[in-house]
Amino acid sequence: MNNNFILVLNCGSSSLKFSLINPKNGATLLSGLAERLLSEQAIIKIKYNGEKEQHLIPVPFDHQSAVLCLVEHLKQLHLIDCITAIGHRVVHGGENYCQPTLINDDVKTAIEKLARLAPLHNPANLTGIIAAEAAFPTLKQVAIFDTAFHQTMPEKAYIYGIPYALYKQHGIRRYGFHGTSHYFVAQQAANILNKPLAQCSFISAHLGNGCSIAAIKDGKSVDTSLGMTPLEGVMMGTRSGDIDPGIIFHLINQLNYSVQDVDNMLNKQSGLLGVSGISNDCRTIETAYIEDHNVQAALALEVFCYRIAKAIASFTASLTVLDGIIFTGGIGENSDIIREKILAQLSLLNFTVDDEANLAMRFGKSGLISSEGSRSAWVIATNEEWVIAEQTFQLLNQES
Ligand code: ADP
Repeated sequence: MNNNFILVLNCGSSSLKFSLINPKNGATLLSGLAERLLSEQAIIKIKYNGEKEQHLIPVPFDHQSAVLCLVEHLKQLHLIDCITAIGHRVVHGGENYCQPTLINDDVKTAIEKLARLAPLHNPANLTGIIAAEAAFPTLKQVAIFDTAFHQTMPEKAYIYGIPYALYKQHGIRRYGFHGTSHYFVAQQAANILNKPLAQCSFISAHLGNGCSIAAIKDGKSVDTSLGMTPLEGVMMGTRSGDIDPGIIFHLINQLNYSVQDVDNMLNKQSGLLGVSGISNDCRTIETAYIEDHNVQAALALEVFCYRIAKAIASFTASLTVLDGIIFTGGIGENSDIIREKILAQLSLLNFTVDDEANLAMRFGKSGLISSEGSRSAWVIATNEEWVIAEQTFQLLNQES
């Protein structure tokens, strides 16, 4: 078998997503998820050759045990020797890491230091790297940063209107996230247009549990809606997105919220969940809206779509040409209702929807959903794992 597969790892605080990918065409040989790590219910689910299996992860139920379980299965399936390197998704790369990076001790120290900007993500990413190094001591490990694609944003897009010293001394600026996804769908849209990405300008909307919009000019990110943390910008599943910062002082000073309460409310109890009072899951809210005519569900969808449309419209200020809008992420790829509502708000930008095409675009199908005469709007299924595999492979080929 081809021994040029890349093992892609995406490590969360209690989960580890993995896939074994052919970097040349994105084909996935094996994929899966270890979840509920650090609990006695830790399990690993593996999909290979159309078959799914599931196993308990042994003591101490941690990321290291999960990686060892994965190694055991890769050995049993005779897949261990086809892995040529490991690509890690790392959420925060700060200002210094804007390229795929071979991991060494300095890089690990930097990822650890950047945890001050991404306390929920970078420590988990580092745990995955350390576990993979122990399990695959002879393989090279590469970090692909979620912030990297947005490092081309101009200063005017990333500086907050607060004292400049906070940026210089503490790195408080906008970084943006979901960069790998925005890059992938922009490249796919450029392929559809049969033009080099460097000659294309798009606005991409990655709408999943986390949501972000990016303005891409001549193939480069020039603005994006997520900021220093993944809380800024449009409304998300449980995150508020932009609010008046004065609300925070009001909650603390007048309503006796603690800082932790505010953090919890804005990150975990807001967004679609907070407004609907039903769920953070778009499918559940759509069902409540359509079948039960639930008023709060309708409101949550209206606010969600309006805020996204406003962000898209505002990003036209960063562009001189707009080749089209791209929808991606679990909601962007599947919800015809959300896409229709967003595009309806953008008629001034000459968007009209082809209802039939819009309805047909779901479950990983990609294609045009705008009608004839409209500016283009596409649904493009994202594939961050392929980008990580491809960039890992390219970096190692440059090095050798
Ligand atoms: P994450 O940001 O965790 O990767 P995903 O990109 O998987 O999230 O997106 C999850 C969101 O996609 C959920 O809100 C889910 O309800 C929504 N979603 C998935 N399938 C559909 C569908 N058929 N219709 C509407 N929303 C969907």
